[in-house]
Amino acid sequence: MELRKDPITRSWVICGDEPEQAPSAGSFCPFCPESGLPLQVVATSPTVNGSPWSARAVVHPHPLYGIDGEPGRSGNGLYDKMRPVGAHEVIVENARHDRHLWNADDREIEEYLALCGQRIQDLKGDVRFKYVSVFKNFGSMSGQEFDHPTSEIVATTFVPRRVLYELRSARQHYQVKERCVFCDILQQEQEQKLRMIEVRGEYMAACPYAPRVPYETWIAPRNHEAYFERSALRSGAMRDFAALLRRTLFRIRTIADGFHMVLHTSPNTIHKSETLGFWKTIEDDYHWHLEILPILGAKAKSYTFKEVYYSPVSSETSAAILRERPTE
Ligand SMILES: [Zn+2]
Ligand SMILES: [Zn+2]
Ligand SMILES: [Zn+2]
Repeated sequence: MELRKDPITRSWVICGDEPEQAPSAGSFCPFCPESGLPLQVVATSPTVNGSPWSARAVVHPHPLYGIDGEPGRSGNGLYDKMRPVGAHEVIVENARHDRHLWNADDREIEEYLALCGQRIQDLKGDVRFKYVSVFKNFGSMSGQEFDHPTSEIVATTFVPRRVLYELRSARQHYQVKERCVFCDILQQEQEQKLRMIEVRGEYMAACPYAPRVPYETWIAPRNHEAYFERSALRSGAMRDFAALLRRTLFRIRTIADGFHMVLHTSPNTIHKSETLGFWKTIEDDYHWHLEILPILGAKAKSYTFKEVYYSPVSSETSAAILRERPTE
């Protein structure tokens, strides 16, 4: 495996001929507490419900990125490549095999979110890592890897493409208006209420104005905050977010079989990058948020016309439908 940079779009891709993986034996789950498998546990959250633990981070059993060494960025003519150096962890969301984020206790979800915050903070301490991604694929069409409720964390030596687009736009908006573009969007959505799903304390869930798929939903803090981990590690700050995440996923699950969920937070600004330069105003111009992209069964493929997203359900209709859906 190696990382290659597309010289036109400047985005990195991970590319290589992967050996066929042997099918795992039976229905044995490696993440259940009683499995007894020698997982490389990175961190564990204390129990809140009598289970052995409430959430834990383990090294991914088949990591795409290797933790050791330097990226060794090198060129070949006009092409750039580097070694896939990074961290690849699985966040086990709950000790129970059947307890998903939409049917767990809010305190368990808070523990999961705090663990994500801790892992991001910890991985950002590594000077090599420019960004830490947290994401979850759920459902057979999503690329879900494990049956057990899990998310993934990947620390990379580059900032993923979509986050880079957001950072560039946010900085440009800030240079012109001296305001955070996300705060401006959230304010307008709260005034217009056309695409709002739910407000809960400091957080809100809404469908974006220009969705990529039907029922696309974002959850964000209503007050400005650039770093997810700072919210996540502030005592009690995640209570409303945990409940809103649970309720929103429950709503989406009544409509869609699967979804992709991705956290967008600030890149690693502990070690300032001269080449990226985003750190100068990032504290004021970027705003963390969670994006949920539902996957609608067999129709899923036709929605994305390769490069131009096509959503046959408007965000106004999506929000109106989601608002009426049960939340538990
Ligand atoms: Zn399990
Ligand atoms: Zn903001
Ligand atoms: Zn985003």
